[in-house]
Amino acid sequence: MVMRRNTCRVCNGISFTKVLSLGEQPPANNLTQPGKEDEEKYPLDVYICGDCGYVCLLDIVPKDALFRNYLYVSSTTKTLPQHFKDAARRLSGLVESKPFVVEIGSNDGVLLRAFKEIGIKNTLGIEPALNVARIAREHGIETIGEFFSKGLAGKIAAEKGKADLVLANNVFAHIDDIDDAAEGVKALLKDNGFFVFEVQYLGYLIENNIYDMIYHEHLSYFSALVLEKFFHRHGMHISDVEKIATHGGSIRVYVKKGYGTRPDSLEKIISEEIELGLDKKQTYFTYAQNIEKQQQELVALLKKLKAQGKKLAGYGAPAKASTILNYCGIGTSLVDFIIDDSPHKQGLLIPGAHIPIHSRRHAGKENVDYFIMFAWNYMNEILDKENDFVKNGGKFIIPAPPFKIIP
Ligand code: SAH
Ligand code: ZN
Repeated sequence: MVMRRNTCRVCNGISFTKVLSLGEQPPANNLTQPGKEDEEKYPLDVYICGDCGYVCLLDIVPKDALFRNYLYVSSTTKTLPQHFKDAARRLSGLVESKPFVVEIGSNDGVLLRAFKEIGIKNTLGIEPALNVARIAREHGIETIGEFFSKGLAGKIAAEKGKADLVLANNVFAHIDDIDDAAEGVKALLKDNGFFVFEVQYLGYLIENNIYDMIYHEHLSYFSALVLEKFFHRHGMHISDVEKIATHGGSIRVYVKKGYGTRPDSLEKIISEEIELGLDKKQTYFTYAQNIEKQQQELVALLKKLKAQGKKLAGYGAPAKASTILNYCGIGTSLVDFIIDDSPHKQGLLIPGAHIPIHSRRHAGKENVDYFIMFAWNYMNEILDKENDFVKNGGKFIIPAPPFKIIP
């Protein structure tokens, strides 16, 4: 059952405009078991708040359906663990020695393991997906198997004391009640502590016409402009912000309690956002048109190759693949199968599109001519690994603009 939200998460406003519709889609990360192809579908429509410019989804898939058993395991790639190793080193510089670090959406413990490696062991993960929380615990990372909330934050603060650092990577946009989450962070954080989170960046999506980051888990598409307003309403302020390369383009946002002046980094990014028109509806209508064009170009390209007798398969089965395939209406008549290294995904189908997911070994026997690289945010890692495929004449199609065929 889909829930429909009527108020803005950022300003409580009620006047929304729909700027993009990707149709009805099943939840992108809930891969389908063969024989159970009658998935529930929900509208995947993007709205902008007329009062504050916040960009979001209003149709909400219940969080238990999305997150209790979660197929995304952060440590599957090489790129992300390395990113979080660097992050741990950097973030540890914000606090005194022996800090208490709490992470929201800690998944398999990828970041807290990196903290542990550099000697910061007083950590706590909060991860509602019990299957991935278990992996974190196996690595010695204490993890609470619950959704973060103000209530839980109060309990942790009472039992373990307040935190020096509260971290939340690629999860803040997944939370519907961000008022409760922000109050929870406040309750949990020491007065001089930092709340640091990484989130996919709206400016990056708009500037590059990327749409495959849009799926039901991602309820918010944040700009710094909107985040500043949001934290102000909660008596907090952004003390620094930086662009990072994760998932194509993200921002890392540093938040402190109390009110403060705009740091230069925030001033700069906000002026870029105004220049880009992130606060204007028209920007999103243009974006929607560009995406429709992309859809047509991709389908035309795949049909052309198929007509030439080429064998097409997908590389990587991230949630992004599901958004593209369902929006473009691409199924097994064009793409025979998709390979993914994650054993959690192999043997299952892309929801909606019903394309089967296999291991790399399977593809070896299939004489693939073109791989559509759905995991394009790991392009370098994949190209390194697939040197032989390319040497033997194989090609990759990058489905994010600018469309590229490599080599
Ligand atoms: N931080 C990791 C995982 C991101 S995926 C990384 O950056 O790679 C998002 C994670 O947040 C999932 O593991 C999901 O189960 C978890 N999550 C979703 N909603 C949550 C909530 N309300 N509180 C805590 N964790 C949540
Ligand atoms: Zn608003």
